[in-house]
Amino acid sequence: MKAVRLHKYDERPRVEEIPDPKIQDPLDVIVRIGGAGLCRTDLHIVEGQWADKTDVRLPYTLGHENAGWVLEVGSAVTNVAAGDTVILHPLVTCGLCRACRAGDDVHCDLSRFPGIDSDGGMGELLKTGRCLGDLGLDGSVLLQRGRVGSAGLASLSTWGLRLGLRGGRSMVTR
Ligand SMILES: [Zn+2]
Ligand SMILES: [Zn+2]
Repeated sequence: MKAVRLHKYDERPRVEEIPDPKIQDPLDVIVRIGGAGLCRTDLHIVEGQWADKTDVRLPYTLGHENAGWVLEVGSAVTNVAAGDTVILHPLVTCGLCRACRAGDDVHCDLSRFPGIDSDGGMGELLKTGRCLGDLGLDGSVLLQRGRVGSAGLASLSTWGLRLGLRGGRSMVTR
């Protein structure tokens, strides 16, 4: 697949061909990306300002504000299915550790942050977890118009909640 990869700080990221991600864990979800937002954080990452904090190994794929269609799910994923339109929670957590079970998933022992500390969504496919928001019945239309990704995560509460309510479905599922 094609992806936007950062090879070196203070250099332009490159569009290049890399292997497609594969389901490895029962809770993995592969999303076909419909939109990936670009925000100032990405520029700071390229400038190397986050290098010490994230300790990410270069090269990697940028993109932490992502939406798309579920392509494939691991054997233990029950909250989404292939074809669902989803917006991705930025932090991928396990849902099983003590912190997650206490509702404190920001302190998950196994969390990762695609686009920040691991491969993100500026590619054709992204492997994530099951923390996905349902974009509801109109999601495909929005993704095809390229409006969801560019709106980015900031849109989660506005677009998502509105669509979720209109579709009569809950917005954020785990
Ligand atoms: Zn951002
Ligand atoms: Zn956890």
